[in-house]
Amino acid sequence: MLKGKTALVTGSTSGIGLGIAKALARQGANIVLNGFGDVNGPRAEVEALGVKVGYHGADMSKPAEIEAMMKYAAQTFGRTDILVNNAGIQHVAPVEDFPPEKWDAILAINLTSAFHTSRLALPAMKAANWGRIINVASVHGLVASAQKSAYVAAKHGLVGFTKVTALETATTGITCNAICPGWVLTPLVQKQVDAKAAAQGIGNEEAKKQLLAEKEPSLQFTTPEELGALAVFFCSEAANNVRGVAWNMDGGWAAQ
Ligand code: NAD
Repeated sequence: MLKGKTALVTGSTSGIGLGIAKALARQGANIVLNGFGDVNGPRAEVEALGVKVGYHGADMSKPAEIEAMMKYAAQTFGRTDILVNNAGIQHVAPVEDFPPEKWDAILAINLTSAFHTSRLALPAMKAANWGRIINVASVHGLVASAQKSAYVAAKHGLVGFTKVTALETATTGITCNAICPGWVLTPLVQKQVDAKAAAQGIGNEEAKKQLLAEKEPSLQFTTPEELGALAVFFCSEAANNVRGVAWNMDGGWAAQ
């Protein structure tokens, strides 16, 4: 379905981004990976799916590095047809104790980077009259939780940015939508499981159960594979007129 297209997925060396990259690769899209940590493992996993794979290590908090990454994608693959803004970090603390530098980093990586990648990808998408921008927001783009001020502000902002981008491209072949996961058991969430286990003197499994029970009625984690399938749908022809939605896959979290 996506043969000949190129998808750039930010923060795709791990977790949800890697799951989405693999799902798009299974549809034939070439992939530009981005993110920190081990690159060779994720790269081999995507290459095994039979597509071309590039990598750029741009730090999503640095606009100049984002520009370099977008140029690299254009030079290597011709164009970014599918842009998945997924890179994100978390920090948990009450507002009065929230380190200002963490606030700035979360806003830069979880929100502002999507502005930079989108503004740089849109001209070529417009020239081709086809494009897909998928912003990985969160259920925290729709509702709040205590101690997550920067994250909730950034994700609400990302949902708003998604709607504006969708409106500005509404008469074109470019769509922009957001995905809003509930709990997904990735390294980002494992840190929160570990903190709960340590604070309460409980085991890993019990901490996971409690985390789910607090927020997610299904009592199940959403998986990167399920989120990848939703991204594939957004890229399909059937989704040509799906524009500006914030689609939660959250086990009922936001329905409460
Ligand atoms: P993760 O920690 O497994 O992956 C994050 C990815 O982002 C990694 O590849 C990491 O290297 C990359 N990254 C971090 N900082 C970066 C930077 N400055 N520049 C470039 N890359 C950077 O986390 P995840 O859970 O897969 O999260 C992916 C996205 O999904 C995030 O935007 C997160 O907010 C969102 N999300 C996660 C959950 C969840 O429960 N895990 C729920 C809702 C939304």
